[in-house]
Parts: sequence; C-alpha cells; structure tokens
Amino acid sequence: MPIPEVTPRAILGSSSAVAVGAALGRVARIGGRIGALLRQQAIVFGAMRVAVVCAVAWGVYAHERAMLVDESQRATAALAQTVERDAGRTLRQLDAALARIVGRVDRDGAAIDWTSLADEGSALVGDRAAFALFDAAGSVSLGAADAVTGADRHALFDGVGLGGAGPSLLAGKGRLVLARTFADRDGRALGVAAAVVDPSTLIVEAPDGAGIALVDPAGRPLAEAGALRGAIGRILPLPERLRGADPTRPAALGGDQPGYAAEIANSPLSIVATPPDVDRDPRIVRWRAECVAAAGILSLLILAMAYALALRASRFEACVAEQARRDPLTGLANRTAIHERLDQAFASPNGDRAIALLVIDLDRFKYINDTHGHPLGDELLRVVAQRLCALAGADDLVARLGGDEFAVVQMVAGYGDEAGVLALRICRELAAPYELGSIHASVGASIGVAFATRDAMATSELLKAADMALYAAKAQGRGSVRFFHPDMHHAVRRKVTIEGGLRSAIKRDELWLAYQPIKNARTEKTVGYEALLRWRFGATMVPPSEFIAVAEETGLIVPIGAWVVERACADLNRVPPGVRVAVNCSPVQLESFDLATHVRKCLHHFSLSADRLEIEVTESFLINDSPRIAAQLRRLKEMGVRISLDDFGTGYSSLNCLEQYPFDCVKIDRTFVQKLERREQTRATVRAIIELAASFGMTSIAEGVETRAQLAAVVELGCAEAQGYLFSEAKPLEEALALAALEGASGAPRQRIASG
Ligand code: C2E
Ligand code: MG
Ligand code: MG
Repeated sequence: MPIPEVTPRAILGSSSAVAVGAALGRVARIGGRIGALLRQQAIVFGAMRVAVVCAVAWGVYAHERAMLVDESQRATAALAQTVERDAGRTLRQLDAALARIVGRVDRDGAAIDWTSLADEGSALVGDRAAFALFDAAGSVSLGAADAVTGADRHALFDGVGLGGAGPSLLAGKGRLVLARTFADRDGRALGVAAAVVDPSTLIVEAPDGAGIALVDPAGRPLAEAGALRGAIGRILPLPERLRGADPTRPAALGGDQPGYAAEIANSPLSIVATPPDVDRDPRIVRWRAECVAAAGILSLLILAMAYALALRASRFEACVAEQARRDPLTGLANRTAIHERLDQAFASPNGDRAIALLVIDLDRFKYINDTHGHPLGDELLRVVAQRLCALAGADDLVARLGGDEFAVVQMVAGYGDEAGVLALRICRELAAPYELGSIHASVGASIGVAFATRDAMATSELLKAADMALYAAKAQGRGSVRFFHPDMHHAVRRKVTIEGGLRSAIKRDELWLAYQPIKNARTEKTVGYEALLRWRFGATMVPPSEFIAVAEETGLIVPIGAWVVERACADLNRVPPGVRVAVNCSPVQLESFDLATHVRKCLHHFSLSADRLEIEVTESFLINDSPRIAAQLRRLKEMGVRISLDDFGTGYSSLNCLEQYPFDCVKIDRTFVQKLERREQTRATVRAIIELAASFGMTSIAEGVETRAQLAAVVELGCAEAQGYLFSEAKPLEEALALAALEGASGAPRQRIASG
C-alpha cells in the first residue's frame, strides 16, 4: 500500500491563540456544567421549598408578634384605665377632704380658727397631698400655701367664683392644685382650702418599655414615667373623641403614637399610656431568632438535599449522555461521540497536532454472522474493538460506527506517516485469526484515511472523505488502505450509479452471458464453456470486476446469480451434447440463497442432465468455514452437478479445502499460467497443484492461457484442460458455438486460431 509523501505542518493558529482558545473552552465547559446543575428540577423545587419554609417561618413570627402586640395593647389600655381609676379616686378623696374643711368654716367669718382648720385639713389629706389654707385678704397663709402663687390665688378667687359647688383645679409643671373656696353668708370670699398634689403620685411606674403620663386637657404632660419620661413640655396627641367619650374605656391615641388615653372622671385630666416596643420584647426577640434559625437550618437542609439530588440527577444525565455516546456492544464510542470529538477538534484546533480519521470496515464479517450466528459475530466485534484499542494511542478515540464499521480519530504530527503506519498495523492485527470458543474465524480490514483541514473543513466532510477512501480501499481489494484523494468523489458517484443501474438491469434486459470455451489441453477440443456475465449499461459495457463487487456488497448478486443459472441452463440446450457449461457463483449466493434448490428446478425445467452444469466457486468462501455453504455444495454434488474451485492459488490455497469439499476440478489461476515461462518455481508450484488435484481425483484446468508456449507448458505439467484468449475470449453463445462448429468442421483448430 503506497503511503503518500508527507510534510508535517501545523494545522491552524499560533500557540498563544491556542492557549486562549483552550482556556475559553475550559471556562465554557465549567459554566455549562454549573448551568446544567442549576437547570436541574431538584434545585428549582429546592428553591421553591426554601421560599415556602421562609414564608411559613415569617408567618409564624408575624402571628406571634401580632398576638404580642394585641396583648401589650390590651395591657396598656388596662394600665391606662387602672391608673385613671386610682388617680380619679385620689382626686375625689382629696376633694372630699377639702369639702369637709370648707364645711367647717364659720360663715360669719368672725370666729375662724385658721390654725386648727389647717391642722384638720392636713390630717384629712394625709400624705396624698400637702394641705394649703389662705385667706382672701392675704393675711393667712398656712400649710403649703406658698405653693399656690399670687396669680393662682387670683385665678382661684376670680375664675372659680365663690361658693361654687365643685373644686377648682390648677395644673402646672410638677404641681397640681385642687382647691375649694369658701365665703361668708354674704358671698364675700373668705379663703381657699387647697390640696397641692405632686402629679407623679397620681401615676405609677410603667412596666418595662411602656410609658405612662398624666396630661392636662391640652395634652401637656404633668407627670410621666417609663417610655414617656422626658415628655414633659411636649404635647401628646390626645384623640379628638376623648372629650365626651366613654370614660370607662381608653381611647387610642391619634397620630403615630401608639397608646391609649383615659380621661379621669370629673376632671379635665387624662392618663396616657403607651405600650412597650413589641420588637424589643425579649419574647419576640427570642421568637425572631428561633424562626430565623429554624428557617435557616431547614433551608440549608433543603438546599443540601436539593444539591445532592441535582448532583445525582446531573450525574445520571451525564451517565445517560455518556451511554448515548457509547456503543453498547463493544463499549467503544459511537457515531455521536465521533461527531462530537471531530466538531470539538474543528472548533479548537491543536496547534501542533493534526487529526486523521481512519474508517475501518471488516471484510467477510457478514459470512461469520450468517454462518455462525449473531452471538459469535458480536463476540468477534468485541475482540476487534479490543485489538483496535490496543493499537490506538492514548489520545486517539476508537469508535464503532455501526455494523462492522469502526473508526479511529488519531492525533498525528503530520499528514500520512503516523496514520499510514497505524492503518497498516490495524490491517495486520485484525486479519490475525480469532479464537472464539471452539470456532476459528478470520476477517480482514479495509481502511480509508482522511485528514481534518487538509481533506475536509468540517466533520461531515471529513467522514465523507474517509468513507470515500474506504470505498476505494475496498474496490482495490480486501485488506487495503487508501488515503483520501479528491478524485475519489468520482469513484463514489460511479459506485452509486452502478448500484442504481444494477437494480433494474435484469428488468431492462441489460444482462447477458458470454461464453468462453474450455478446451481439452491436448486435443484442444471444446469440452465446456464458462458463462461470464456481461452488462451493457447505457452505451458502455461495465466490466464484471466492477459490477460484481457492487452486486456482492449490496446483495443484488442473489437475484442476478439466480438469473445467470437460469439463463445458462436455457442456453445449455443449444450447446452440443457432452459439452458442459460452468457458472460462477459468489459465496453470498451460497450463503444466503438456496442455490441447490434453484439449480434443481432449472435442470428439471430445461430437462438437463446435472453433469452438464458446473458451479465455480472461489476459495474465499472457505475462509469462514460456513456449514451452510458446505451443505449446499454437498447437495449440488449429490444432484450430479460438477463443482470446480476457481482461481486456485490466489487465495488461501488450503489443502484442507481440497480434501474437505467435493470438487471435480481445480482451476489454476492465470497469474500462475502467465509466469510459467519465466519462473521455474511457478512451474514447480503448478506441477504440485496438478498432482495434488489428481491425487484427489480432480481435473486441473489452466486459466488465462494466452500463448502456445503456455499451453505447451501446462500440457507438459499434466494439466487436462485449458481456457484462455489463445483459444477464444468470451463471446455471445451463437458466436462461441459457430467458432466450435468451425473447429469441428476443419479438424485443425490449432493452426487456424493461432493464425486468426
Ligand atoms: P473468472 O471466473 O476467473 O473468469 C475468468 C476471467 O478471466 C474472465 O474475466 C475472463 O474474461 C478472463 N480471461 C479468460 N481468458 C483470459 C486470458 O487468456 N487472459 C486474460 N487476461 N484474461 C482471461 P471477466 O469476464 O472479466 O470476469 C471476471 C470475473 O468476474 C470472473 O473471474 C468471475 O469471478 C466474475 N464473474 C463473471 N461472471 C460472473 C457471474 O455470472 N457470477 C459471478 N458470481 N461472478 C462472475
Ligand atoms: Mg470463473
Ligand atoms: Mg478464474
């Protein structure tokens, strides 16, 4: 096999561009993997579950908070109400005490004992307030009278008027004056009894975070505690409806201020209470922490589970994807994987390595499959895969494209050398015998090689180029290697044309048989004819060497072969009695078609004696030791049909075969005949063949005898019959018969043919 001269050269790109390309490729692959992970349903569901968990946690927290807000608001309202009640009671008691003091006043005014009155007042108000007594003239000023300033005194005497039924109330900063005035019988003001109250004693200490204040009608705080501490001087937004509202129920404060206000009964004062800030409540703080922790832990668990599931799913997907790229029988990469690898190679070329694609087709695999069954065929394919893997390099990809077709993607330094060496090694290794249990099988390999970027610029082109090279290799003969060449396009088109034409050749009556005489080597009398198939396709004759191979490959040889037998039998009736006709037969016909039955029918139909028909088979059928072929040959032999071994010496020349099969004659291939005159060894070989055949009781026929010298040589070696251009090439039956009739009439064929 000639391997073309090659010059190693880089395919594409500088080394820095290649490095950048490789880095980008890696980033894209990692991104793709993360993307694939995030696209997993488990992650989406996980995220949804986390959202639900967070929503539930928030809902629980918000509910608890709302309850707490509600509870604290109730407590605040209750506090406002309680303090209002207590303060109201205190004010009422103080007023009652003032009323008693005022009731003791001598209305005549002459005999008022101011001192005892002051003492009594002090005793009555007790520690709830400081008692103050002063007269209208300004001469008496007892107890806490100093706390009531001049202006306040005027206000009391002026504003309240004398003899009023209720108490007067003066509210000031840190001071609350509850006062009752008294007058003589004529209504002249005599004096004032007052209780000076510290407003802070009317409220209580606010619970944690809450606020409480006593406010005047304008909303100004008089005393405050807790959160409202510091509110003195500020105006609290008392609700509008406070005035005249149900004093037994606290009213919510207006504005932004949360809280409640309760009006102290029979007084212009109110108690304001504000609830504690719920969000600082330790319970809510704890709840919040617990909810966040629970939601966080649960979310983490869910996310961890989702991640694990997504990882498993993505590994499963990767595994499925991997399976989709594997050939289940051999475990090799499959066609998809080859495509991907080549696409990748075209997308990111390796600066100093080129890519060679070797497409390998097994020769004669079909026979193994048909003969020994598919399980054995499968086993053989597995062994082929192992041998290929052992031959390929670490960076190479070995794949099974389907059937008995394999491929190797090889990284090479140059166009030709490495790929050619590998291809030849593959041919040699795959042709070595296979021991499959008790069966010994043998196949060969034809290989087509094409290079990325030299022969093709895309994956599909490269595969096509390698296929074309393979086709050329097969056409060249089994076990060959061919590199792709642009001219091969023509060969492929030709094959497709031939296949298309052959399909309708019988129907269109384009096939016919040419007959070449087989002579008695000594007497040169015609003893038989070999029927050779001819095909006129359009205006040209297609040689059998071209169309028989296509017919065998496509299985069209079966109907064509059946037609040949039928035609030859029909013609035999026109051939003189005692003269036989030999028909060539492909192993495919014997393997997948019941040739013996067909022959019997034809012989019967044309009322022919079986010994006038001869079936020629080549040694190639022996290779795989097919029991079906052996059985068919035996049945033909039993019918009386002659069987000859064609082209002997070109193939395996197995002696075992001569012993095993019922051949009537052996046809010595013309390559021997044509070397007879020049090589002594060939003479020895041919003599050995003839003697061996004779020892088995078989006749020998020398094929391709073209010269008198060759004929003389084969006669001398003991060959019984001969065939070749010396006598005649294959001709239409009428011409062949006419030639034989002429020979019979003249009785001197040798001279005439030699001279003609
Ligand atoms: P074959 O069976 O060995 O047929 C002999 C071939 O040698 C024929 O070629 C014939 O024309 C050629 N030949 C005969 N005498 C000479 C000679 O003196 N010198 C040279 N150089 N050649 C000679 P053909 O007709 O081209 O057939 C080629 C092959 O095609 C045959 O080889 C046979 O294997 C196959 N073939 C032909 N017809 C049929 C058929 O009907 N069925 C099958 N299965 N195969 C066929
Ligand atoms: Mg033949
Ligand atoms: Mg032959």
